[in-house]
Amino acid sequence: MELRKDYILDRYVIVSEARGKRPHEIKEIEVKEEPVACFFCPGDESMTPPEIARVSDEKGNWKIRVFQNKFATVVPQGVSEIRTDNRFFTFSDAFGKHEIIVETPDHSKHTADLSVDELKEVLQVYSDRITELSKINGIKHVNVFKNHGGEAGTSIVHSHTQIIANNFVPSTVREELDAIKKFQSCPYCDIINIEKGSYRRCFENELFVAFTPYASRFHYEIWIFPKHHINSITRMDNNMLWHMAEILKKVLVKLKEMNVPYNFFLHYHNDPAYHFHIEICPRQAIWAGYELGTDACINSVTPEEAAKFYRGE
Ligand SMILES: [Zn+2]
Ligand SMILES: [Zn+2]
Ligand SMILES: [Zn+2]
Repeated sequence: MELRKDYILDRYVIVSEARGKRPHEIKEIEVKEEPVACFFCPGDESMTPPEIARVSDEKGNWKIRVFQNKFATVVPQGVSEIRTDNRFFTFSDAFGKHEIIVETPDHSKHTADLSVDELKEVLQVYSDRITELSKINGIKHVNVFKNHGGEAGTSIVHSHTQIIANNFVPSTVREELDAIKKFQSCPYCDIINIEKGSYRRCFENELFVAFTPYASRFHYEIWIFPKHHINSITRMDNNMLWHMAEILKKVLVKLKEMNVPYNFFLHYHNDPAYHFHIEICPRQAIWAGYELGTDACINSVTPEEAAKFYRGE
């Protein structure tokens, strides 16, 4: 057992090897109630809020669709400016935009089943939505994230990604940026170089690398980083997006094999000092009192063991 601190954040994890069965050998059985009608499927477009964007094939059929979330948590109305009353009461309207990206017309396909080219198109849509939504007055950050499986927060089976554009920068990204700025040069550039050759390395291609972070909070947590310093997906060209899709697919295929619910989210910042990455967090273990009370956590799968799983050893 070992206590580990995140590379640069003030965040701790107790890593302890699980006894007995390795968690990835336990297949979780997904019990899902299929909805009577899936309104993400082709033919039911009129059931969704109006379409915002789409990617079509040669025949004019959609491959990817974007529309506003029917149950939006934030809306582009009211006051976006955050203000404080009586010293302690800081607020604004729940201002922003909440969108859904349906990643494929095929109801039965997981994100992991998309081809690298198809996944690249999905990443292109992520980039385009961040660019578009950032233009809205009052929007400070565009959160792009995926929930896969019931325990990861989604009841809809059809592969989709959510976007919540907010009038504030999330504390996770801000803390990372603050920590980066304490170094003379980008710490993540150095971390990538070290982890590429460590026991935590998982996948690598010409432009991207995936590794299990030293202080992983979740079983099989894995991060994807571009090897060259770049602060946002919006500045990536076709070739970069393709290489990122190739690595992301490898990760998702392994998670599908494990049949585990997961979340992934993009981390970017407009500040050029920031280093873009994707964090993928499988949701096998439930966070309890210790995690909630301390913001530290206990992980019973060592990142080195998890990396072996991804490498297929
Ligand atoms: Zn469907
Ligand atoms: Zn960097
Ligand atoms: Zn991050």
